[in-house]
This record gives sequence, C-alpha cells and structure tokens, in this order.
Amino acid sequence: MTAGLLGATLGAVCSQEEKHSSDEVAKEKSGAVVHKARGSGRWFPGSRKQLEADVKRYIEEAKPPKVDGRIVATIAPHAGYRFSGPVAGYTFRALADQAAAGNKPDVVVILGFSHSIAFPGVSLMEGDGIETPLGVAALDSETGRKLTNLSSRLFFKYALHRDEHSAENEIPFVQAALPGVKIVVGVFGEHDPRNLETVTELAKALNELAKTRNVLVVASTDMRHNADYDLVAKTDAVTLKAIEAMDEQAMVKQGVEADGVCGIMPVLTVMRFAALQGCKKAVTLRYRNSGDDYPESRGNWVVGYGAVAFAVEKQAWR
Ligand SMILES: [Zn+2]
Repeated sequence: MTAGLLGATLGAVCSQEEKHSSDEVAKEKSGAVVHKARGSGRWFPGSRKQLEADVKRYIEEAKPPKVDGRIVATIAPHAGYRFSGPVAGYTFRALADQAAAGNKPDVVVILGFSHSIAFPGVSLMEGDGIETPLGVAALDSETGRKLTNLSSRLFFKYALHRDEHSAENEIPFVQAALPGVKIVVGVFGEHDPRNLETVTELAKALNELAKTRNVLVVASTDMRHNADYDLVAKTDAVTLKAIEAMDEQAMVKQGVEADGVCGIMPVLTVMRFAALQGCKKAVTLRYRNSGDDYPESRGNWVVGYGAVAFAVEKQAWR
C-alpha cells in the first residue's frame, strides 16, 4: 500500500488500529460501570450530531429486499463507517422495519472477534453499559450470566474487548435501529473454523436462551481483504452463496482456504443458531466492496462488505 493511499483506505482495513490511552472504564456516581466506546473519532464520528446523522442516513437510504418471516440473526460489517456504514445500514434497516411492525427483541447479542489477541472461548463484556456518542447502551448482564452459566467456554472479561472494534462498531447501529434494547457484547478469541466446539456451545446456549428471551444475534464480519478487486468480488460471491444456503462445510472451506471472512467464528455461530431456530435459508440484503465505492483502492486494498438476514417462518416473537 502506498503512503498516499493509506489515508484513503485506512477505514477499510479492519485489522488496522491506532492505540489510544483514554480510560476505557468509567465508574458513574451511582456505582454503575460504564465503558467508553473506543472507536469514537476513529471508526465512527466522535460527535453525537455527526454520528447520528450518518447512521440515520445509512439506515434510511437502505432498501433491503423484503424478508419473509421473523429475522433472528444477521450479519453486518465493521469497517470504518464511511466504507461499510451504508452496507450495515441494510442490516439495521431490516431490523428497524421489523421492530416497527411489532417485532422488537428483548436483547441483541453482538458477536465480534479479537483482531489482535488469541484466547480460548468467547469473552463477554461485563459491566452496566457502554457509552458511544449516541448515549449509553445498557449491557444485559443478566442475560450474559445466563450464557456464561450454560458453557464454560463463555466468560466475562472486559480486558479482552479493549481496542477491539468488530463488536463495538455495531453498537451505534443497534442504538439507532432498536433504541432502548439491551445488548450483550461478545468477542471470540478463536479463529480456526476447523475446531467448532466453541461455536457449537455458543449456538446451543443462544438457542437455550431464546426459549425464554426474544433474542436477536448480530455477527460482525467483513469479507475478503485483498488488493485484487476481481478476486474479492469472486470470493465474496462464493462466500455469500455458502451463507445463504447455510452450508456449514462450504463456509468452513471458505474460511480455511479462501480467507473469506475475518469473522468466521461469529458467522458460523449465527448460521448454527439460525438453523437451530428453524431458519432454512439466509437472505443477502446487500453486498458492496470498497473497490465499488472507492475505485482508487482497486489494486491496492479492497475489502468486501455483506449484509445478511436469517429469518424463521414464525412471524411474531411471543
Ligand atoms: Zn475485520
């Protein structure tokens, strides 16, 4: 990558981050523990006014195809908002429309992964809330505890969320599309899709949770990263086909052989969870890559972004 292009494409490089030293945890006067979103001013605008305007526009301008049934899980990208925000808008427009029709979840479980640290299992963010420029999103610690009680591979540890943007970048979209809905934020420390024990346990735990709570799961991932625009477009088309068909084997192959998505474990988890819920086929709501919108990135650095919904036949939650 040339130095000149670095600035233009930084937001598209999902593994690239700056280090900030600001406090990540603030104790409020009430004793509540509220984390500070670390992506403000980096991955998304740091001012409330700008972030609100951008996210609203991404959601309002999105025109997702009609999805039959009730969406129980989704996929959304997590790059810098000016690159992937318009695609994420499709995911969250579908969820906002569903909520407006009376189907609002009790809790949104956001699944990201650590771009920088490897560890066994999935770390959930403990505490009472996380503050973005749009306000404090309440963390549903009771639901988080239910999950950690269901599997020893799921545990609370905020330190493993520090400086990780994959899950955090979905939070302002949840705040805008589903205001007031509590969240659980998890990051995977595993990246090898040939070992699916944690995916299996998490999907089972989410399915168990869904017996008593109306659960919506958001998997955070970007798609192929490569200099070659055609290769990115071609790989992502194959990956989206595997996701749509909910073909786990094909998806593992895309993860291992084609480097198809950075968030392979979150994606496999929502595929499993959706299947347990009764979903038969996923719907791609939108696909773009950074080479479509920033042609100068072709030949230098191109990243694919997909918005996907998994729905079940049953129209309404309880
Ligand atoms: Zn990524």
